[in-house]
Amino acid sequence: MRAYKRCSLCPHRCLVDRTNGEVGVCGESSEVRVAWSGLHRGEEPPISGAFGSGMIFFSGCPLHCQYCQNYQISGADAIGHVVTIDELATMMTELQAAGAATINLVTGTHFIPSIIGAIEQARSAGLTLPIVWNSSGFERPAALQLLSPYIDLYLMDLKTLSGDVSRRFCATEAYVEAIEPVMRFIADHVRPTFLTDEGALYGTLVRHLVFPGELEASMEVLRYISERLGSHVWLSLMVQFEPPVASERFERINEFDYERLLDALESLGFDEGYAQELGENVSWIPDFRRDNPFPPDFADPLPYFIGLKYSESR
Ligand code: SF4
Repeated sequence: MRAYKRCSLCPHRCLVDRTNGEVGVCGESSEVRVAWSGLHRGEEPPISGAFGSGMIFFSGCPLHCQYCQNYQISGADAIGHVVTIDELATMMTELQAAGAATINLVTGTHFIPSIIGAIEQARSAGLTLPIVWNSSGFERPAALQLLSPYIDLYLMDLKTLSGDVSRRFCATEAYVEAIEPVMRFIADHVRPTFLTDEGALYGTLVRHLVFPGELEASMEVLRYISERLGSHVWLSLMVQFEPPVASERFERINEFDYERLLDALESLGFDEGYAQELGENVSWIPDFRRDNPFPPDFADPLPYFIGLKYSESR
């Protein structure tokens, strides 16, 4: 827990004392807040399994992307519920009891010490599921090193390698400076990716979301992954860009560009991974003020999150 004093858990290195209630760029003190937890069936197949992935969405975020679909829980007025480490551990074991295929920790970078404590408690209480670290990629290798004994699958964004694109969509160029050391950490310290006979994925699944009008930046990302990480990681190519609040109008990726991306996957030798279909008629913008923020077919909340009033819990 000393890591919360003079906090440098993420690349911002704010050096604030979060144990005193101070907050840095992530907007969170050392009190863990969770926005939602439950089963979600919209993740990649080995992560969702038959009944859904056991999601735990943390409140706050060190990045403040312009297009964030989870803006209600990641921005300046992030909503969420304070939970103790005991409660966090109980959430994990309850997700397992509900049939989750994995424990999926979404944007937990700023709570790494507490998450480690909760995983240790949950493992002692019988948790056996694989743990997924679901991250923007805006991480520090030193913090990932702390986590690595506890993580089975890194579900890591690689948003862009372009400073211009990073400024436009991630509101900072710091993302580009941070992501290369993270990818080197994965190449050097995370085991190569593999699927078990039971259908569980271990290692690293790199997610890349295509930004509108930035096809060449996506091609650069694909070339980078192919050349630097090769078969060490699997790729998940996503085309669901859907800004919840847009100050400008974005064109969705068209069929021609989508085909170019699929051709690039083939020519660059990607033979393991996932590519989202174009034109899926689902809105991916969750509403975290509801018991179930997602479309009904996609998710079921843990009982703990039914009927909670966010305004009372802050
Ligand atoms: S986790 Fe939060 S307080 Fe700590 S360095 Fe990152 S943004 Fe700053």
